Amino acid sequence: MLLFEQETFHSRIVLPGGQTAERPIEIRTNPITGRTCRITYSRGEEREPGAETLPAPPPFAENRDACPFCRTRLATHTPRLAPELCPQGRITRGASTLFPNLYPYGRYSAVSLFDDRHFVPIGTAGLQSYADSFLNCRDYLLRVLEYDPTAVHLAITQNHLPSAGGSLLHPHLQVQADRAPANHQRFLQARATLHRRKSGTRLFSDYLALEQEGGARWIGATGPWHWLTAFAPEGFYEIWGILPGVTSLRDMREDHWPALAQGVLNTQKLYRSLGRNGYNLGLVLLEDGSDDLELRVVLTVRSNYAAWVRSDFTGFEVMLGDMATFTAPESTARSAREFWT
Ligand SMILES: [Zn+2]
Repeated sequence: MLLFEQETFHSRIVLPGGQTAERPIEIRTNPITGRTCRITYSRGEEREPGAETLPAPPPFAENRDACPFCRTRLATHTPRLAPELCPQGRITRGASTLFPNLYPYGRYSAVSLFDDRHFVPIGTAGLQSYADSFLNCRDYLLRVLEYDPTAVHLAITQNHLPSAGGSLLHPHLQVQADRAPANHQRFLQARATLHRRKSGTRLFSDYLALEQEGGARWIGATGPWHWLTAFAPEGFYEIWGILPGVTSLRDMREDHWPALAQGVLNTQKLYRSLGRNGYNLGLVLLEDGSDDLELRVVLTVRSNYAAWVRSDFTGFEVMLGDMATFTAPESTARSAREFWT
């Protein structure tokens, strides 16, 4: 049921100097989604302005005066949770503060800060700040589920820097819960349920077992979380963290969250070493009682946040629907391992 299909072929062209060249292209099929992606190896040789080294901080990185997330303005410039959810209006844990999104995406939509640092270059955040921010998200989601048991489609996401969709530089997570599933939640729910009905085992545990056996995309573990590169990436340098056997927020132990934070920070350090400063993170949770979909966090690099950098989504991704990356996931896994030791 889980097939790792790939095909390599060549495109034959005549170079400007007159020589013939065979350019390799690989098509891989995602074993979970069935979606294809391409690895266009020769495009890695192309000069890409703004992606050769880690860009300098943006010129306004120290401009805290206008930031609603900095502590001096937080209390007066951010909204408060409805009293039925949280009479105090905001949830705090350690240096992390959680409050509703001023521009919500769904019924329950909040923002969880890490701490009072206004600009945190990739790979330099503190472990405790990440663990606290994740735990704040968990506490919020548990409150939502108690108040509205039908809001079972949950997610924690991050847009690090505006090139990844972040509207404010000050680092934060988004957390949401809704009755209506997003596309990926709807798909994964059906896929995980079908897999378990047919095989009697869970989708991501089986996927992980196959990857651990193969080993080429395996990176390492942080506590019970297992980390690997995606076989058929849908984003640049895509990395997954899987928590096998855990399908619900309620089954997560307190120490699962710092272990998750450690893997996220390791991934950021890899991205920093590759000269990349923006990324997205996503953790999808279903609390519908189906018990089939285990926890998986996904991280991908986005275009660098710097002047004149081109978007990572071209006509190929937007119009044809296949992500075209340049790097073999096996080579990304080799580069990543040093950040897990
Ligand atoms: Zn700030």
